[in-house]
Amino acid sequence: MVKKMAENYNVGIDIGGTKVNIGIVKENGEILDNIIIATNKEKEPEDFIADICKKTKELLYKNNLSIKKIYFIGVGVPGTADINTGMVSYCPNLFWYDLPIGNMFEKNLQRNVKVMQDSRNAALAENLFGAGRGFDNILCVAIGTGIGGGIIINRKIFNGGMNTAGEIGHTPIIKNGRKCVCGNFGCLETYASGTGITDLALEKFPEKFIKLEDRRCEYVFELAYAGDSEILHFIEECVDHLAFGIANAVSLLSPEAVIISGGLCVHEELFVKPLQDRIVQKGYYSWTHLNKLKVYKAELGSDAPMIGAALLYKGI
Ligand SMILES: [Zn+2]
Repeated sequence: MVKKMAENYNVGIDIGGTKVNIGIVKENGEILDNIIIATNKEKEPEDFIADICKKTKELLYKNNLSIKKIYFIGVGVPGTADINTGMVSYCPNLFWYDLPIGNMFEKNLQRNVKVMQDSRNAALAENLFGAGRGFDNILCVAIGTGIGGGIIINRKIFNGGMNTAGEIGHTPIIKNGRKCVCGNFGCLETYASGTGITDLALEKFPEKFIKLEDRRCEYVFELAYAGDSEILHFIEECVDHLAFGIANAVSLLSPEAVIISGGLCVHEELFVKPLQDRIVQKGYYSWTHLNKLKVYKAELGSDAPMIGAALLYKGI
């Protein structure tokens, strides 16, 4: 009789700008249980991380598991992290600069912990179980408030020599263009992210955004769905800008698929579907003539970065 192997349980902790998603994830990507707590920016990082670890232990206890029984623990952060040292060097959302986040978790949990940027974790999850499954090389572009990215090469996360590979949102696409939150000008993010689209629409069509509560990206799309032809044309321009940025990345990296995630990917017809043709129009003939590139909407939703953190050992 073949003895059934015990199933591996992993913990993924995804720290975002507003909330932390803590989950127990099976090897097949299934979430056994998870909890979401608020991000506390007021607290010292040591105390905030001690709180997260306490919640993690409570979640394990509730599921009759102990930290010792967990196979792997991965953490995701919304900024630049070094997988080898656990140092977070740049995380502007949380005001973290050169902080040993990995060590802080290890001290609290008494276990090895690996730290990776959230958008890379999300790309890994999509590659393992989502829209990118079956491909060896993918580029994930997360479009929400800003634009993040994750690169998978030969089914592993490509983090680059400075742990910054994938920052497609801060590639300049317009010379002397719009001012970006990063301090540079003309970044892709200023033309095609939720914030970029809202700011541009407000400047172009102030008469359409009289009420204060209308000044948000979802309202821009509501106008488009209501058939506003000027806004429809404006969104096409935003998609075109996005296509420029992605076509550049595809020429550099040659992925077989581009996966679009983040809050804006819900607008599949207006925002995701037109992308494939527009990227190919702007690409280099060396790959465009192959007619091979696929653009898909992400499948795992907002749990993707947590799932990827839990299963990070598969992608490093
Ligand atoms: Zn920028």
